[in-house]
Amino acid sequence: MRHTKFSQLAQIYLELEQIMSGNLMRKILSEFLKTIPKNEINIISYMTLGRIASKYSEVNIGMAEKMVLRSIADAAKKHMGVIEKEFMKKGDVGLVAEQNVRHGRKTLSAKEVFETLHKIANVSGAGSQEKKICLLSKLFANASPLEAKYLARIVVGQLRLGAGEKTLLDSMAIAFTGSKKAKKTIEHAYNVCPDIGVIAKTVVKSGLAGVGKIDVLPGRPVQMMLAQRVEKITDITKKIRGDIAAEEKYDGERVQAHSQNGKITLFSRRLENITAQFPDVIAALKKNIRSKTYILEGEVVPVDNKGNLLPFQILMARKRKHEIEKYASKVPVHFYIFDILLANGSSFLRQQYPKRRKMLEKITKECPPIFLSRRTVSKNIDDIESFFDDVLQRGCEGIVAKSCAADSYYTPGTRGWLWIKWKREYQKELADTFDLVIVGAFAGRGKRSGSYGALLCAVYNPDTEKFETLCKLGSGFSDEQLAELPKKFPAIKQQPSNVSVAKNMTPDIWVAPEQVIEVLGAEITKSQLHTAGSGLALRFPRFVRYRHDKSPEQATTPKEILKIMKARSYK
Ligand code: ATP
Repeated sequence: MRHTKFSQLAQIYLELEQIMSGNLMRKILSEFLKTIPKNEINIISYMTLGRIASKYSEVNIGMAEKMVLRSIADAAKKHMGVIEKEFMKKGDVGLVAEQNVRHGRKTLSAKEVFETLHKIANVSGAGSQEKKICLLSKLFANASPLEAKYLARIVVGQLRLGAGEKTLLDSMAIAFTGSKKAKKTIEHAYNVCPDIGVIAKTVVKSGLAGVGKIDVLPGRPVQMMLAQRVEKITDITKKIRGDIAAEEKYDGERVQAHSQNGKITLFSRRLENITAQFPDVIAALKKNIRSKTYILEGEVVPVDNKGNLLPFQILMARKRKHEIEKYASKVPVHFYIFDILLANGSSFLRQQYPKRRKMLEKITKECPPIFLSRRTVSKNIDDIESFFDDVLQRGCEGIVAKSCAADSYYTPGTRGWLWIKWKREYQKELADTFDLVIVGAFAGRGKRSGSYGALLCAVYNPDTEKFETLCKLGSGFSDEQLAELPKKFPAIKQQPSNVSVAKNMTPDIWVAPEQVIEVLGAEITKSQLHTAGSGLALRFPRFVRYRHDKSPEQATTPKEILKIMKARSYK
């Protein structure tokens, strides 16, 4: 049987890395996808995104840079000291591998590389480090310099070709369906099933019709539905016609609970498996949900021993590997359930919200720590406003107004008008918060010397899959937080290809675009210094908090900034 050579992949990666145009990337990738054997499309897709499994999978290669350098040294028969020195200079394991690995004798196939990386991920127990190093060095010994460069980067999770998920999904649409409509269908399917391998296999095997049929599956997380915002609470009625269900908006951690024949898994907003953190919630779900196979969604909120809601930050104490049971009683939580995606084995994605709520009420026995979100349903905005005032008294941060219309489906990964959030802060003028990704830092001077003086913050543009800068952020940090910035945001050697920065805003230190923070901003202006939405900037930004629950692709978008800017100029 014909296999894709790993050298073919490396060649494509080299081309992708050198071009900036998204359209050209799509063209190259789609042409390439057409040439590979159908049964390898899934592994090629994972590897092109720099992974060996879906983004929610817990498969972890488990090799830090140092171990990869050891494998390179072994394969190249060089001293570790020499290799380490080169790494200090270059700061990129890929370049070090390329420089030192000689052409091997054997031709590596993509499948063989993929399978060996899985083997490495599966090694555990005593002597596992040595075994991993040995397996990888065998691959290096047979790799060409170019293959070695990309192999090393995949292993440390730094492939960063500039072609992300969207580019790959679009390329699949172009390669295998040839229709424009396909992009939307494929994107939607990826929100329902965020496993690029499954999507790729379905596209090649059953075409668009097959992709359209992809539905929720217990145990496989679904990208969560998001809410829009309005400028005035009364605008809600412009967007939602008929009944409005205003639900309490809880400020905690969003959790998707999956039960597969009674086996429960919890996923975070980033699709991480957080089952181990909440044994109390799991036990309560087992007791109080009358269904064996379901997917529920809700917010986990910390409470005091009288059941009063506490601030979100307190939940951080539950993010731990040890003494979990002790902290479950030390930091108690409530789980407020507000949606259902699957019940008794049937998908509820295409059921309107009132029907989903009815099902929730039917299968849930409310009993601490499990509750359904409290709500009121009315066509009248005055009722909604007075409910909003009430919920603030209870310690909620606002409401989520939900459409009850015939098309009020659960729309995965989409920020649409079926849900509208209205928060306490929106009432104060100029108090929007933005979720921004750190892409760089500026060295501190005076009191801040030795630490960072400011961080360079960016929005995420999903159309180009690039991070575009919006502001330089230096205020709002405590002294303690300031001191730990360099540790929290370590320097990388080069500007990543998916970060776009204006010439006059080049930071002293580049930071991998991986972490999200919430920033309060006073004013949005036009500025040539920043690249967000081709030249928007946020003035007087202040740090509010870290948003570990958000992935960089879930940061604020330039479109949202433009919308806020437009709305403000009418005030
Ligand atoms: P976003 O989720 O819109 O990207 P965000 O994470 O900053 O932004 P908010 O702006 O505070 O969150 O509002 C949306 C979030 O509110 C949801 O993702 C969910 O976690 C939370 N939430 C709390 N209560 C509810 C509810 N009753 N219905 C829907 N979402 C709720």
